[in-house]
Amino acid sequence: MKIKHVTYYICQFCEEKFTSKEECKRHEASEMNLTLEEYKELEELEKKEMETSGVLAISSNQELRDNQDKAIHNVIAFRKKHHLKEDENLKHI
Ligand SMILES: [Zn+2]
Repeated sequence: MKIKHVTYYICQFCEEKFTSKEECKRHEASEMNLTLEEYKELEELEKKEMETSGVLAISSNQELRDNQDKAIHNVIAFRKKHHLKEDENLKHI
């Protein structure tokens, strides 16, 4: 018996399956009307936003708070520029 493990990457919008991560990202990017590069840029911005909010939870340092504001602003600015929907998670601003 042979067991083959296949990893699928699933589109977060329509749940279509992909066997390649790159293919999946390309597809998700097109769902958002972004190029792959733009989609990666957005991911990077969102990652930064998440990182700063994680640090913020354990600190009330003003500089960190400013960094987080900037990180959130960058994500929102990107989404506005590309006419994307508001991120539900960022509504508290
Ligand atoms: Zn899709």
